[in-house]
Amino acid sequence: MHPTEPSQTAAPSPDAPGPGTPSAGWHPAHDGGRPEGRRCAHAPDVTVPPPPHPDECEDCPPGDPGRVRLRRCTTCGHVGCCDSSRGRHAYAHYASAGHPVAVSLAPDESWAWCYEDETFLVAGAS
Ligand SMILES: [Zn+2]
Ligand SMILES: [Zn+2]
Ligand SMILES: [Zn+2]
Repeated sequence: MHPTEPSQTAAPSPDAPGPGTPSAGWHPAHDGGRPEGRRCAHAPDVTVPPPPHPDECEDCPPGDPGRVRLRRCTTCGHVGCCDSSRGRHAYAHYASAGHPVAVSLAPDESWAWCYEDETFLVAGAS
């Protein structure tokens, strides 16, 4: 390892999935604000089963307006509200259950978040 390598942060991806493979696996998203790169040991285990109640946080009172966006635990399927919501139940679930990765259920968001590694994860095809 020489410290004289170019400062490009191109992460080696020998097994980068080709086009047309939307569920080829998850990996940490590139983050220009973190040039040291992000790592997440949980990414290979991320699966996204269909949510039973995609429109409601399991822990918020019904109709609670404090809910903003929903996150689904990829370990057990728990649905909780995001950190911008009043309850922050997705984070609360991580804190209580220790399940590290939650995928966004927002229709305009297609990423998962690893609380343990504080890293965005994106699916193989973007
Ligand atoms: Zn992780
Ligand atoms: Zn909630
Ligand atoms: Zn869980």
